Amino acid sequence: MIDIGTLKEPIYVTRPLLPSLQKLNSQFSEVWDSKWLTNNGLQQKRLEKQLKDYLNTENIVLFNNGTMALLLGLKSLNLAGEVITTPFTFPATVQALDWNGLTPVFCDIEPDTLTIDVTKIEALITEKTSAILGVHVFGNPCDVLKIQEIADKYDLKVIYDGAHVFGTMIKGKPIGSFGDMTMFSFHATKLFHTIEGGALTFKDQSLVMKLNQLKNFGLVGQEEVVLPGLNAKMNEIQAAIGLETLKLVDEERARRHEIKIEYEQHLANVPGIRVITKLEDENSSYQYFVIEIDECLFGQSRDWLLEQLQQYNVFSRKYFYPLCSDFAWYKHLKSSQPKNLPQAQKTVKGVLSLPYYGELELTSVLTICEIIKKLQVTTVSVAL
Ligand SMILES: *Cc1c(COP(=O)(O)O)cnc(C)c1O
Repeated sequence: MIDIGTLKEPIYVTRPLLPSLQKLNSQFSEVWDSKWLTNNGLQQKRLEKQLKDYLNTENIVLFNNGTMALLLGLKSLNLAGEVITTPFTFPATVQALDWNGLTPVFCDIEPDTLTIDVTKIEALITEKTSAILGVHVFGNPCDVLKIQEIADKYDLKVIYDGAHVFGTMIKGKPIGSFGDMTMFSFHATKLFHTIEGGALTFKDQSLVMKLNQLKNFGLVGQEEVVLPGLNAKMNEIQAAIGLETLKLVDEERARRHEIKIEYEQHLANVPGIRVITKLEDENSSYQYFVIEIDECLFGQSRDWLLEQLQQYNVFSRKYFYPLCSDFAWYKHLKSSQPKNLPQAQKTVKGVLSLPYYGELELTSVLTICEIIKKLQVTTVSVAL
């Protein structure tokens, strides 16, 4: 082991934003006193209103998690057949397609942002295609204008998995305003969270009622069932936690910005390391800090670095791994063939999420960078 100011406590890739228990207790007391625990209660209405402002959106519906939000969002759009999407995402993106009986058609990704490669979408469109499902990977937005242009040309719907882009903008416009619909995840690992939770923002106001029905068994009143819904409601405790967490988000973003700068400074000249999450200020979600390791230049693989870092108590993660196109039940698809996804195949072996959360000390960031640098130098000298 290299002798570096060792980290006594393990450092994990993230740490949830935790509002003070005292403040939460007063929110919880209010819920208890109301004796209204779920089904569109006061806390949920409040959170809905605050998120409308924060995300700068006209229409929002809250859910018990992001996956159910996406699943029911797709359902509400009456899609059929095939949906063009990316293999480089969290499983939930394509599982939401699966539960709607939709077949994913995997499109390769773009090397800089790791989002869907818009130059390759048109070749995948068939008469069965009904939508494009893009993912704003690690906070890097998709090429939303080009995607809309293609969608308009072929009359396709556009849905975004925005699990990583809470509160971010594209050239001054809220990211949720692009496409027909955007899903946000409020899982504990996300910047803003309700422990578990999610939301959809969307253009078509008539979907508000439909989505509220879909998340509540398709019920209208007590006796009429109008849609094949599910149970995907956010409860009052989740919403109350959200109201307190939301107050902390701006400060968390500011802290993460400092951490990002610290990482970038110290990693700038390490051969074979490139920062993927480069965006700043309102364009950045500050959700992840992700690097790509070029095995030839760095001298060792991503997997090797991940393991070495663990020896020093640094627990980074391979987000996303494996590719969704490699899932057993999708492997047979033509679009899943590795030769059709060269960039995704390369990226999935090269990217690493480093520890990133507001409470992470700058001195720990420095130590993590020192470890990475020394590992690189040692590796190269061995090779020579
Ligand atoms: C977290 C995440 C999801 C799932 O959201 P949940 O709220 O955990 O259901 C979906 N897609 C991406 C890209 C995610 O990171």
